[in-house]
Amino acid sequence: MIAQHLANLHRQIRLAEDAYGRRSNTVALLAVSKTQPAAALAAAYQAGQRHFGENYVQEALAKQQQLGAFDMTWHFIGPIQTNKTKLIARHFAWVHSVDSLKIARRLSEQRPATLPPLNICLQVNISTEDSKSGLSLSELSDVYQQIAQLPNLKVRGVMAIPAPETDFAKQRLPYHTLMQAVMALKAADFDTFSFGMSGDVEAAIAEGATVVRIGTALFGARAYP
Ligand SMILES: *Cc1c(COP(=O)(O)O)cnc(C)c1O
Repeated sequence: MIAQHLANLHRQIRLAEDAYGRRSNTVALLAVSKTQPAAALAAAYQAGQRHFGENYVQEALAKQQQLGAFDMTWHFIGPIQTNKTKLIARHFAWVHSVDSLKIARRLSEQRPATLPPLNICLQVNISTEDSKSGLSLSELSDVYQQIAQLPNLKVRGVMAIPAPETDFAKQRLPYHTLMQAVMALKAADFDTFSFGMSGDVEAAIAEGATVVRIGTALFGARAYP
């Protein structure tokens, strides 16, 4: 079933690239595996999936141990507690949810010298009505300039989790706003726009997503949120 879902998602992504004038194969799928057992990740791996996103450090480390034989790339996408930065810096290749200079400094300091720079996205809060974590649009530029100086991080782009909407135009709007703010940064090396989840894949791709983070539509409903 996971292989079938994966094939359907790839088709959906290719169709959206085509529909919104995006080059083919420019949008990647990140499998969001929080709460899913290691066997589900192994099934996705067997079907060709290589990139996995996790929200909880201890849960992720347990799965990394169980799945050590597979060549998986691990992305941390959840809220970051200060006391977890060391483990995140050691055990992930990517972090999508960097939303303060303090957290970024710790990740850079704690990234082992034996590993390549940690790939990060700046999480930006583009929802008006809810108070999810993320940098505000007004602080994005200053914080980016400072984080870009840190030696062991590579700022690849931005991540956003807008408030859920069912209307397509309303889904697109926050991503559009964020893209305009990113243009103003003149960060020529940004290549990653981590936009979109199971419910807004098309809107995210229409607005420039290069990574869609998919949990439910790949693995099915989660047992806990
Ligand atoms: C859980 C989660 C997802 C996946 O959400 P689905 O709606 O299940 O696809 C994506 N991004 C983040 C940051 C998440 O926490």
